[in-house]
Amino acid sequence: MTAIEQLKQRMADVGTLQSSAAVLEWDQQTHMPPAGAERRSSQLALLSKLGHEMLTSTETGRLLAEAERGADALDADSDDAAYLRVARRDFDKAAKLPTKLVEEIAQVTALAHEQWAAARAGNDYKRFAPWLEKILDLERQVTDHLGYKNERYDALLDNYEPEMTAAQVRVMFDALKAPVVDLVKAIASRGPDAVNMEPLRRDFDEEKQRRFNESVIRAFGYDFNRGRQDRAVHPFCTSFTRDDVRITTRYDRNFLPMALFGTIHETGHALYDMGVAAKFDGNVLGGGASLGIHESQSRFWENLVGRSRGFWTHFYPALQAEFPVLGDVDVETFYRAINRVEPSLIRVEADEITYNLHIMLRFEMEVDLLDGRLSVSDAPDAWNEKCRQYLGLTPPDDARGILQDVHWSFGGIGYFPTYTLGNVISVQLYEAANQSLDGRIPDLIARGEFLVIREWLGQNVHQWGRKYTPAELVTRCTGRPPTPEPYLRYLKTKFGDIYGL
Ligand code: ZN
Repeated sequence: MTAIEQLKQRMADVGTLQSSAAVLEWDQQTHMPPAGAERRSSQLALLSKLGHEMLTSTETGRLLAEAERGADALDADSDDAAYLRVARRDFDKAAKLPTKLVEEIAQVTALAHEQWAAARAGNDYKRFAPWLEKILDLERQVTDHLGYKNERYDALLDNYEPEMTAAQVRVMFDALKAPVVDLVKAIASRGPDAVNMEPLRRDFDEEKQRRFNESVIRAFGYDFNRGRQDRAVHPFCTSFTRDDVRITTRYDRNFLPMALFGTIHETGHALYDMGVAAKFDGNVLGGGASLGIHESQSRFWENLVGRSRGFWTHFYPALQAEFPVLGDVDVETFYRAINRVEPSLIRVEADEITYNLHIMLRFEMEVDLLDGRLSVSDAPDAWNEKCRQYLGLTPPDDARGILQDVHWSFGGIGYFPTYTLGNVISVQLYEAANQSLDGRIPDLIARGEFLVIREWLGQNVHQWGRKYTPAELVTRCTGRPPTPEPYLRYLKTKFGDIYGL
């Protein structure tokens, strides 16, 4: 066997350990009885240790270096050349971090997660503050080991969005901020009754919700031979191979959008994972290019398809048949209700537009906290001030302010920008897809013909897995790297129409 073949076999074993851990995590979130938690954490810890050891071993490093010696002969666009670039990236990132630091982060975040949950439940920031301090200190150590171009944040962001920098995020967010704030103000000026959400809060039987949602995602091409849907406290998508991609959902009997758009969102992630080329399965090139690209796929289906007028032209009669309680609500009223915009305190409940303001606030906070310009003790005040500035709201307590998100407790600093990046990229891809399909997408959606759209995404985005960097992939699809103009244009058109602006 050549060095690259041996390397592939070894990395495939690392992948198998990781996907085995993912099965256990999925089980933990969906079916495991509570008493199983303790043993489960030791099972997961062992698998993650074995995976890390195998990935960072001298033998892996040796095979990688040997395979790279033959790389000059490879076509730069070949799968093997991409394989070596991605394997090098994964190896270096893992190997640069001392095992002791990796273990300490795992221990601290496991404890911090519990403290965060208790702090949020008890509205007690002081309880979480020392843990946040510790996590920031560990993350700074991580940035020192990984290295960065201009600022510490770059090192962490790169874990989620390869090769993107904080400076690039700032440029994009600066371009979005003023127009988004202006749009939110213009919408607010139409008064709180411009859009009525009451129909969404009626009584919707859970089993009927499940049945209707399943009919939607089957129409998108979610393949139940290669996936399944279960209930979980927090909705997510996980894939063990491209042929076993699972989603989870939660229901609210008195709020229809929760399970509906949650299901569509996770299906967007799932279609991506199911669509990666079979030749990359179990290979370092399998999986998504980045969190931002992944989120572009979930937002594409959730917002650009699922919250469009055409989508409901097609599906609303079936929804009404399932829920006669909507009998007196016409499709236009329903369409407006699911697209209502109103600044709110909680990110996960935010509408399509104000969601981005939540992300900008978090990005700015994270950069300042990481660089030490903002102290952990001053952070709640800073949060509340930004909240007033961006959303015109003051959190009544820290539970609905700085304590609301789980991310910091698991060390996920640098993660938030990928949500807005996903929004931006989703529209850029939509415009490109619509152009190459001769402007037919709105019509295809209204006729319930989703497979043509899925096919375009499969050909242009999904199949490539991690072969290209996020910026390369977006440029291949749309002719330029991620840029906010299409997204702003979309927001102004859609919500200008709904709110008569
Ligand atoms: Zn998502």
